[in-house]
Amino acid sequence: MPRLATALLGACCAVLPALAAAQDAQRREVADAAASLQAKVVEWRRDIHRHPELGNRETRTAAKVAEHLRGLGLEPRTGIAHTGVTAVLKGGRPGPRIALRADMDALPVTEQTGLPFASTATAEYRGQTTGVMHACGHDAHTAILMGVAEALVAMRDELPGEVLFVFQPAEEGPPEGEEGGASMMLAEGIFREFRPEAVFGLHVFSTLQAGQIGVRGGPLMAASDRFSIDVIGRQTHGSRPWGGIDPIVAAADLIGTAQTIVSRRTNISTLPAVVTFGAINGGIRYNIIPDRVELVGTIRTFDEDVRKAIFADLQNVATHVAAAHGATVEAHIPAETGNPVTANDPDLTARMLPSLQAVAGAGNVVDPSLTMGAEDFSYYAREVPGLFFFVGATPQGQDPLRAPSNHSPQFDVDESALDLGLRAMLQLTLDYLGGDTSG
Ligand SMILES: [Zn+2]
Ligand SMILES: [Zn+2]
Repeated sequence: MPRLATALLGACCAVLPALAAAQDAQRREVADAAASLQAKVVEWRRDIHRHPELGNRETRTAAKVAEHLRGLGLEPRTGIAHTGVTAVLKGGRPGPRIALRADMDALPVTEQTGLPFASTATAEYRGQTTGVMHACGHDAHTAILMGVAEALVAMRDELPGEVLFVFQPAEEGPPEGEEGGASMMLAEGIFREFRPEAVFGLHVFSTLQAGQIGVRGGPLMAASDRFSIDVIGRQTHGSRPWGGIDPIVAAADLIGTAQTIVSRRTNISTLPAVVTFGAINGGIRYNIIPDRVELVGTIRTFDEDVRKAIFADLQNVATHVAAAHGATVEAHIPAETGNPVTANDPDLTARMLPSLQAVAGAGNVVDPSLTMGAEDFSYYAREVPGLFFFVGATPQGQDPLRAPSNHSPQFDVDESALDLGLRAMLQLTLDYLGGDTSG
Protein backbone atom coordinates (compact mmCIF):
# COMPACT_ATOMS: atom_id res chain seq x y z
CA MET A 1 0.00 0.00 0.00
CA PRO A 2 2.75 2.60 0.61
CA ARG A 3 3.68 2.52 -3.10
CA LEU A 4 0.05 2.93 -4.04
CA ALA A 5 -0.47 5.73 -1.55
CA THR A 6 2.52 7.62 -2.93
CA ALA A 7 1.27 7.27 -6.50
CA LEU A 8 -2.16 8.48 -5.54
CA LEU A 9 -0.74 11.34 -3.53
CA GLY A 10 1.03 12.48 -6.68
CA ALA A 11 -2.24 12.50 -8.60
CA CYS A 12 -4.07 14.11 -5.72
CA CYS A 13 -1.76 17.15 -5.65
CA ALA A 14 -2.55 17.87 -9.28
CA VAL A 15 -6.26 18.26 -8.58
CA LEU A 16 -7.59 21.54 -9.88
CA PRO A 17 -8.76 23.99 -7.23
CA ALA A 18 -12.35 23.89 -8.54
CA LEU A 19 -12.43 20.12 -8.29
CA ALA A 20 -10.92 20.27 -4.82
CA ALA A 21 -13.63 22.72 -3.77
CA ALA A 22 -16.31 20.44 -5.21
CA GLN A 23 -14.80 17.49 -3.34
CA ASP A 24 -14.76 19.48 -0.12
CA ALA A 25 -18.41 20.36 -0.57
CA GLN A 26 -19.28 16.74 -1.27
CA ARG A 27 -17.35 15.53 1.75
CA ARG A 28 -19.25 18.00 3.92
CA GLU A 29 -22.45 16.67 2.38
CA VAL A 30 -21.45 13.12 3.34
CA ALA A 31 -20.56 14.18 6.87
CA ASP A 32 -23.85 16.08 7.26
CA ALA A 33 -25.91 13.18 5.92
CA ALA A 34 -24.17 10.75 8.25
CA ALA A 35 -24.61 13.04 11.24
CA SER A 36 -28.33 13.41 10.60
CA LEU A 37 -28.76 9.64 10.22
CA GLN A 38 -26.54 8.53 13.07
CA ALA A 39 -29.24 8.14 15.73
CA LYS A 40 -31.49 6.19 13.35
CA VAL A 41 -28.74 3.83 12.26
CA VAL A 42 -27.82 3.13 15.89
CA GLU A 43 -31.47 2.44 16.70
CA TRP A 44 -31.89 0.11 13.68
CA ARG A 45 -28.74 -1.78 14.54
CA ARG A 46 -29.81 -2.22 18.18
CA ASP A 47 -33.23 -3.42 17.09
CA ILE A 48 -31.79 -5.91 14.61
CA HIS A 49 -29.25 -6.99 17.21
CA ARG A 50 -32.02 -7.69 19.70
CA HIS A 51 -33.87 -9.79 17.11
CA PRO A 52 -31.23 -11.88 15.32
CA GLU A 53 -32.22 -14.55 12.82
CA LEU A 54 -30.24 -17.45 11.37
CA GLY A 55 -29.44 -17.79 7.65
CA ASN A 56 -32.46 -18.18 5.35
CA ARG A 57 -34.72 -17.31 8.30
CA GLU A 58 -34.22 -13.53 8.28
CA THR A 59 -37.91 -12.80 7.84
CA ARG A 60 -38.26 -10.06 10.43
CA THR A 61 -35.02 -8.38 9.36
CA ALA A 62 -35.95 -8.58 5.69
CA ALA A 63 -39.41 -7.16 6.41
CA LYS A 64 -37.84 -4.26 8.31
CA VAL A 65 -35.45 -3.56 5.44
CA ALA A 66 -38.21 -3.77 2.81
CA GLU A 67 -40.50 -1.50 4.81
CA HIS A 68 -37.70 1.04 5.16
CA LEU A 69 -36.95 0.96 1.43
CA ARG A 70 -40.64 1.33 0.60
CA GLY A 71 -40.84 4.26 2.99
CA LEU A 72 -38.06 5.89 0.99
CA GLY A 73 -40.15 5.58 -2.17
CA LEU A 74 -38.15 2.65 -3.59
CA GLU A 75 -39.71 -0.54 -4.90
CA PRO A 76 -37.95 -3.39 -3.13
CA ARG A 77 -37.97 -6.90 -4.51
CA THR A 78 -38.28 -9.43 -1.69
CA GLY A 79 -37.95 -13.16 -1.21
CA ILE A 80 -34.78 -13.48 -3.29
CA ALA A 81 -32.73 -16.52 -2.26
CA HIS A 82 -35.31 -17.08 0.51
CA THR A 83 -35.26 -13.75 2.36
CA GLY A 84 -33.05 -11.43 0.30
CA VAL A 85 -34.16 -7.91 -0.52
CA THR A 86 -32.96 -5.67 -3.32
CA ALA A 87 -33.95 -2.23 -4.56
CA VAL A 88 -32.71 0.06 -7.29
CA LEU A 89 -32.27 3.77 -6.83
CA LYS A 90 -32.20 5.68 -10.11
CA GLY A 91 -30.36 8.97 -9.82
CA GLY A 92 -31.65 12.12 -11.45
CA ARG A 93 -28.74 12.19 -13.89
CA PRO A 94 -27.24 9.53 -16.15
CA GLY A 95 -24.19 7.71 -14.89
CA PRO A 96 -22.72 4.33 -14.00
CA ARG A 97 -24.39 1.49 -12.13
CA ILE A 98 -23.06 0.06 -8.89
CA ALA A 99 -24.21 -2.41 -6.26
CA LEU A 100 -23.86 -2.05 -2.50
CA ARG A 101 -24.20 -5.18 -0.41
CA ALA A 102 -25.01 -5.96 3.23
CA ASP A 103 -25.59 -9.35 4.84
CA MET A 104 -28.41 -9.90 7.34
CA ASP A 105 -27.92 -13.26 9.08
CA ALA A 106 -26.87 -14.08 12.63
CA LEU A 107 -25.14 -17.11 14.18
CA PRO A 108 -26.04 -19.97 16.53
CA VAL A 109 -24.23 -18.33 19.45
CA THR A 110 -25.65 -17.55 22.89
CA GLU A 111 -24.90 -13.91 23.56
CA GLN A 112 -22.82 -12.96 26.59
CA THR A 113 -22.22 -9.26 26.02
CA GLY A 114 -24.50 -7.97 28.77
CA LEU A 115 -25.61 -5.18 26.43
CA PRO A 116 -29.01 -3.64 27.19
CA PHE A 117 -30.14 -4.73 23.70
CA ALA A 118 -28.54 -8.18 23.90
CA SER A 119 -30.33 -11.02 22.16
CA THR A 120 -32.33 -13.58 24.08
CA ALA A 121 -33.49 -15.29 20.89
CA THR A 122 -33.17 -19.01 20.43
CA ALA A 123 -33.58 -21.29 17.44
CA GLU A 124 -33.25 -24.87 16.34
CA TYR A 125 -29.89 -25.55 14.80
CA ARG A 126 -28.78 -29.03 13.74
CA GLY A 127 -31.34 -30.59 16.03
CA GLN A 128 -30.39 -28.53 19.07
CA THR A 129 -31.90 -25.45 20.63
CA THR A 130 -29.29 -22.72 20.70
CA GLY A 131 -29.04 -19.02 21.37
CA VAL A 132 -28.94 -16.78 18.30
CA MET A 133 -26.70 -13.74 18.17
CA HIS A 134 -25.37 -11.20 15.73
CA ALA A 135 -21.88 -12.38 16.64
CA CYS A 136 -20.42 -11.36 13.28
CA GLY A 137 -21.79 -7.82 13.13
CA HIS A 138 -24.16 -8.30 10.19
CA ASP A 139 -26.67 -6.25 12.19
CA ALA A 140 -24.29 -3.32 11.75
CA HIS A 141 -23.93 -3.98 8.00
CA THR A 142 -27.70 -4.04 7.50
CA ALA A 143 -28.28 -0.86 9.51
CA ILE A 144 -25.45 0.93 7.69
CA LEU A 145 -26.85 0.07 4.26
CA MET A 146 -30.35 1.17 5.34
CA GLY A 147 -28.75 4.50 6.28
CA VAL A 148 -26.84 4.72 3.00
CA ALA A 149 -30.08 4.13 1.08
CA GLU A 150 -31.80 6.91 2.99
CA ALA A 151 -28.93 9.34 2.42
CA LEU A 152 -28.74 8.56 -1.31
CA VAL A 153 -32.49 8.89 -1.78
CA ALA A 154 -32.22 12.38 -0.25
CA MET A 155 -29.53 13.21 -2.85
CA ARG A 156 -31.41 11.52 -5.67
CA ASP A 157 -31.95 14.50 -7.99
CA GLU A 158 -28.27 15.29 -8.17
CA LEU A 159 -27.15 11.67 -8.21
CA PRO A 160 -25.56 10.44 -11.46
CA GLY A 161 -26.23 6.78 -12.19
CA GLU A 162 -28.01 3.97 -10.43
CA VAL A 163 -27.45 2.04 -7.22
CA LEU A 164 -28.59 -1.49 -6.46
CA PHE A 165 -28.98 -2.16 -2.74
CA VAL A 166 -28.42 -5.82 -1.93
CA PHE A 167 -29.56 -7.13 1.46
CA GLN A 168 -28.43 -10.72 1.46
CA PRO A 169 -29.34 -13.70 3.65
CA ALA A 170 -27.21 -16.59 4.86
CA GLU A 171 -23.69 -15.23 4.45
CA GLU A 172 -22.60 -17.66 7.18
CA GLY A 173 -24.01 -20.50 5.10
CA PRO A 174 -27.52 -21.87 4.69
CA PRO A 175 -28.99 -24.54 6.96
CA GLU A 176 -28.09 -28.10 5.99
CA GLY A 177 -29.89 -29.25 2.89
CA GLU A 178 -30.69 -25.73 1.70
CA GLU A 179 -29.11 -23.36 -0.76
CA GLY A 180 -28.52 -19.76 0.12
CA GLY A 181 -26.33 -16.68 0.32
CA ALA A 182 -24.61 -14.65 -2.36
CA SER A 183 -24.33 -17.46 -4.91
CA MET A 184 -28.08 -18.02 -4.72
CA MET A 185 -28.82 -14.30 -5.02
CA LEU A 186 -26.77 -14.33 -8.23
CA ALA A 187 -28.36 -17.56 -9.44
CA GLU A 188 -31.73 -15.86 -9.02
CA GLY A 189 -30.53 -13.17 -11.35
CA ILE A 190 -29.87 -10.02 -9.35
CA PHE A 191 -26.87 -9.11 -11.54
CA ARG A 192 -28.66 -10.20 -14.72
CA GLU A 193 -31.47 -7.74 -14.14
CA PHE A 194 -29.12 -5.01 -12.99
CA ARG A 195 -25.57 -5.39 -14.20
CA PRO A 196 -23.36 -3.18 -12.00
CA GLU A 197 -19.96 -1.90 -13.04
CA ALA A 198 -18.67 -2.42 -9.53
CA VAL A 199 -19.80 -3.84 -6.21
CA PHE A 200 -18.92 -2.57 -2.74
CA GLY A 201 -19.26 -4.21 0.66
CA LEU A 202 -17.88 -3.86 4.16
CA HIS A 203 -17.37 -5.93 7.29
CA VAL A 204 -16.93 -4.83 10.89
CA PHE A 205 -14.00 -6.66 12.47
CA SER A 206 -12.68 -6.91 15.99
CA THR A 207 -9.12 -7.09 14.70
CA LEU A 208 -9.12 -3.38 13.88
CA GLN A 209 -9.60 -0.43 16.22
CA ALA A 210 -12.76 1.64 15.85
CA GLY A 211 -11.90 4.50 13.52
CA GLN A 212 -9.75 2.33 11.28
CA ILE A 213 -10.53 1.00 7.83
CA GLY A 214 -8.66 -2.01 6.49
CA VAL A 215 -8.36 -2.47 2.75
CA ARG A 216 -5.99 -4.06 0.26
CA GLY A 217 -6.00 -4.78 -3.44
CA GLY A 218 -5.95 -8.41 -4.55
CA PRO A 219 -6.65 -11.35 -2.24
CA LEU A 220 -8.16 -10.36 1.09
CA MET A 221 -10.06 -13.33 2.51
CA ALA A 222 -9.48 -17.02 1.93
CA ALA A 223 -11.35 -19.57 -0.11
CA SER A 224 -12.88 -22.05 2.31
CA ASP A 225 -13.55 -25.67 1.33
CA ARG A 226 -14.68 -28.59 3.39
CA PHE A 227 -13.40 -32.12 2.90
CA SER A 228 -14.27 -35.53 4.25
CA ILE A 229 -12.19 -38.69 4.09
CA ASP A 230 -13.42 -42.05 5.31
CA VAL A 231 -10.63 -44.55 5.89
CA ILE A 232 -11.95 -48.06 5.48
CA GLY A 233 -10.26 -51.04 7.07
CA ARG A 234 -11.58 -54.35 8.34
CA GLN A 235 -12.85 -54.82 11.85
CA THR A 236 -11.08 -57.20 14.20
CA HIS A 237 -10.30 -57.84 17.85
CA GLY A 238 -7.95 -55.31 19.40
CA SER A 239 -5.69 -58.15 20.49
CA ARG A 240 -5.39 -59.48 16.91
CA PRO A 241 -4.65 -56.50 14.61
CA TRP A 242 -3.23 -58.90 12.00
CA GLY A 243 -6.72 -60.34 11.67
CA GLY A 244 -8.04 -57.20 10.07
CA ILE A 245 -6.97 -53.83 8.66
CA ASP A 246 -6.56 -51.04 11.20
CA PRO A 247 -8.09 -47.80 9.86
CA ILE A 248 -7.08 -45.89 13.01
CA VAL A 249 -3.36 -46.25 12.38
CA ALA A 250 -3.91 -45.56 8.67
CA ALA A 251 -5.88 -42.41 9.53
CA ALA A 252 -3.19 -41.25 11.96
CA ASP A 253 -0.56 -41.74 9.27
CA LEU A 254 -2.73 -39.96 6.72
CA ILE A 255 -3.18 -36.95 9.00
CA GLY A 256 0.55 -36.78 9.65
CA THR A 257 1.47 -36.98 5.96
CA ALA A 258 -1.19 -34.42 5.07
CA GLN A 259 0.78 -31.89 7.15
CA THR A 260 3.42 -31.92 4.42
CA ILE A 261 0.98 -30.67 1.78
CA VAL A 262 1.30 -27.08 3.00
CA SER A 263 4.73 -27.29 4.61
CA ARG A 264 6.56 -29.12 1.80
CA ARG A 265 4.56 -28.87 -1.40
CA THR A 266 2.79 -25.53 -1.44
CA ASN A 267 4.62 -22.33 -2.30
CA ILE A 268 3.75 -20.31 0.79
CA SER A 269 6.29 -17.58 0.08
CA THR A 270 3.63 -15.36 -1.48
CA LEU A 271 0.29 -16.56 -0.16
CA PRO A 272 -0.44 -18.80 2.82
CA ALA A 273 -2.62 -21.90 2.88
CA VAL A 274 -4.08 -24.09 5.61
CA VAL A 275 -5.17 -27.72 5.77
CA THR A 276 -6.93 -28.52 9.05
CA PHE A 277 -8.52 -31.73 10.27
CA GLY A 278 -11.41 -30.70 12.48
CA ALA A 279 -12.85 -34.02 13.59
CA ILE A 280 -11.88 -37.69 13.76
CA ASN A 281 -14.53 -40.27 14.45
CA GLY A 282 -13.86 -43.97 14.64
CA GLY A 283 -14.17 -46.86 17.02
CA ILE A 284 -16.40 -47.53 19.98
CA ARG A 285 -14.46 -49.71 22.42
CA TYR A 286 -10.89 -50.18 23.66
CA ASN A 287 -10.48 -53.69 22.31
CA ILE A 288 -12.18 -53.45 18.94
CA ILE A 289 -10.34 -52.22 15.89
CA PRO A 290 -13.14 -50.60 13.88
CA ASP A 291 -14.05 -50.86 10.24
CA ARG A 292 -13.93 -47.19 9.47
CA VAL A 293 -12.58 -43.83 10.59
CA GLU A 294 -14.16 -40.60 9.43
CA LEU A 295 -12.07 -37.46 9.03
CA VAL A 296 -13.40 -34.02 8.21
CA GLY A 297 -11.60 -30.75 7.80
CA THR A 298 -11.15 -27.48 5.99
CA ILE A 299 -8.81 -26.09 3.36
CA ARG A 300 -8.08 -22.36 3.16
CA THR A 301 -6.33 -20.84 0.16
CA PHE A 302 -5.90 -17.51 -1.62
CA ASP A 303 -5.24 -18.67 -5.15
CA GLU A 304 -7.33 -20.84 -7.45
CA ASP A 305 -4.36 -22.89 -8.71
CA VAL A 306 -3.11 -23.52 -5.17
CA ARG A 307 -6.62 -24.49 -4.18
CA LYS A 308 -6.86 -27.08 -6.94
CA ALA A 309 -3.34 -28.38 -6.24
CA ILE A 310 -4.17 -28.93 -2.56
CA PHE A 311 -7.33 -30.81 -3.48
CA ALA A 312 -5.26 -33.11 -5.69
CA ASP A 313 -2.46 -33.49 -3.14
CA LEU A 314 -4.84 -34.39 -0.34
CA GLN A 315 -6.58 -36.93 -2.57
CA ASN A 316 -3.18 -38.45 -3.36
CA VAL A 317 -2.10 -38.59 0.27
CA ALA A 318 -5.42 -40.12 1.30
CA THR A 319 -5.40 -42.79 -1.39
CA HIS A 320 -1.77 -43.79 -1.18
CA VAL A 321 -1.18 -43.61 2.56
CA ALA A 322 -4.32 -45.69 3.10
CA ALA A 323 -3.14 -48.12 0.44
CA ALA A 324 0.20 -48.51 2.20
CA HIS A 325 -1.79 -49.82 5.17
CA GLY A 326 -3.96 -52.04 3.04
CA ALA A 327 -6.90 -49.72 3.68
CA THR A 328 -9.03 -47.84 1.19
CA VAL A 329 -10.63 -44.41 1.30
CA GLU A 330 -13.85 -42.75 0.31
CA ALA A 331 -12.66 -39.20 -0.10
CA HIS A 332 -14.69 -36.14 -0.93
CA ILE A 333 -12.25 -33.34 -1.60
CA PRO A 334 -13.94 -30.95 -1.53
CA ALA A 335 -17.06 -32.39 0.10
CA GLU A 336 -18.58 -29.00 -0.10
CA THR A 337 -17.20 -26.15 -2.14
CA GLY A 338 -17.15 -23.15 0.11
CA ASN A 339 -16.69 -19.52 -0.73
CA PRO A 340 -14.04 -18.68 -3.29
CA VAL A 341 -11.22 -16.23 -2.53
CA THR A 342 -12.45 -12.74 -1.76
CA ALA A 343 -10.20 -10.60 -3.93
CA ASN A 344 -10.43 -6.86 -4.41
CA ASP A 345 -10.03 -5.54 -7.92
CA PRO A 346 -6.61 -3.82 -7.81
CA ASP A 347 -7.59 -0.91 -10.10
CA LEU A 348 -10.85 -0.29 -8.30
CA THR A 349 -9.07 -0.42 -4.94
CA ALA A 350 -6.45 2.07 -6.08
CA ARG A 351 -9.10 4.34 -7.51
CA MET A 352 -11.27 4.33 -4.40
CA LEU A 353 -8.55 4.49 -1.76
CA PRO A 354 -8.71 8.31 -1.55
CA SER A 355 -12.44 8.08 -0.79
CA LEU A 356 -11.77 5.81 2.19
CA GLN A 357 -8.90 8.02 3.30
CA ALA A 358 -11.14 11.05 3.09
CA VAL A 359 -13.64 9.62 5.55
CA ALA A 360 -11.28 7.87 7.97
CA GLY A 361 -8.16 10.03 7.69
CA ALA A 362 -5.23 8.73 5.68
CA GLY A 363 -3.44 7.40 8.77
CA ASN A 364 -6.46 5.33 9.71
CA VAL A 365 -6.65 3.39 6.46
CA VAL A 366 -4.46 0.37 6.98
CA ASP A 367 -3.46 -2.72 5.06
CA PRO A 368 -5.01 -5.61 6.99
CA SER A 369 -3.20 -8.89 6.88
CA LEU A 370 -4.72 -11.71 4.87
CA THR A 371 -7.73 -13.15 6.66
CA MET A 372 -8.05 -16.93 6.69
CA GLY A 373 -11.80 -16.56 7.19
CA ALA A 374 -14.03 -16.65 4.11
CA GLU A 375 -16.76 -14.36 2.90
CA ASP A 376 -19.38 -14.91 0.22
CA PHE A 377 -19.00 -11.36 -1.09
CA SER A 378 -16.43 -13.20 -3.22
CA TYR A 379 -19.21 -14.42 -5.54
CA TYR A 380 -20.21 -10.87 -6.46
CA ALA A 381 -16.57 -9.86 -6.87
CA ARG A 382 -16.09 -12.71 -9.34
CA GLU A 383 -18.87 -11.29 -11.49
CA VAL A 384 -17.85 -7.63 -11.51
CA PRO A 385 -14.94 -5.66 -10.03
CA GLY A 386 -15.43 -5.65 -6.27
CA LEU A 387 -14.14 -3.75 -3.28
CA PHE A 388 -14.61 -5.21 0.19
CA PHE A 389 -13.17 -3.42 3.20
CA PHE A 390 -13.02 -3.84 6.96
CA VAL A 391 -14.27 -1.34 9.50
CA GLY A 392 -12.70 -1.50 12.97
CA ALA A 393 -15.11 -2.57 15.71
CA THR A 394 -12.96 -2.61 18.84
CA PRO A 395 -13.40 0.47 21.05
CA GLN A 396 -10.47 2.80 21.63
CA GLY A 397 -8.56 1.73 24.71
CA GLN A 398 -9.09 -1.99 24.06
CA ASP A 399 -6.46 -4.09 22.34
CA PRO A 400 -7.92 -5.44 19.05
CA LEU A 401 -5.73 -8.52 19.38
CA ARG A 402 -7.34 -9.38 22.72
CA ALA A 403 -10.87 -8.09 22.16
CA PRO A 404 -13.55 -10.78 21.73
CA SER A 405 -13.42 -11.64 18.05
CA ASN A 406 -16.21 -11.99 15.52
CA HIS A 407 -18.20 -15.14 16.31
CA SER A 408 -17.38 -14.83 20.04
CA PRO A 409 -20.40 -14.62 22.42
CA GLN A 410 -18.82 -11.40 23.74
CA PHE A 411 -18.26 -9.80 20.34
CA ASP A 412 -19.40 -6.20 20.29
CA VAL A 413 -19.30 -3.41 17.74
CA ASP A 414 -18.27 0.05 18.85
CA GLU A 415 -21.15 2.18 17.62
CA SER A 416 -18.80 4.71 16.05
CA ALA A 417 -18.19 2.01 13.43
CA LEU A 418 -21.75 2.54 12.21
CA ASP A 419 -20.99 6.16 11.44
CA LEU A 420 -17.65 5.41 9.78
CA GLY A 421 -19.14 2.55 7.77
CA LEU A 422 -21.97 4.73 6.56
CA ARG A 423 -19.68 7.59 5.58
CA ALA A 424 -17.31 5.20 3.81
CA MET A 425 -20.07 3.57 1.73
CA LEU A 426 -21.60 6.92 0.91
CA GLN A 427 -18.30 8.49 -0.10
CA LEU A 428 -17.38 5.49 -2.27
CA THR A 429 -20.76 5.67 -3.96
CA LEU A 430 -20.68 9.39 -4.66
CA ASP A 431 -17.07 9.36 -5.80
CA TYR A 432 -17.57 6.36 -8.06
CA LEU A 433 -20.79 7.58 -9.61
CA GLY A 434 -19.43 11.09 -10.05
CA GLY A 435 -16.20 9.74 -11.53
CA ASP A 436 -14.85 12.22 -9.09
CA THR A 437 -11.96 10.53 -7.35
CA SER A 438 -8.60 12.15 -7.20
CA GLY A 439 -6.95 9.02 -8.60
ZN1 LIG B 1 -18.97 -14.49 10.34
ZN1 LIG C 1 -19.54 -11.94 8.71
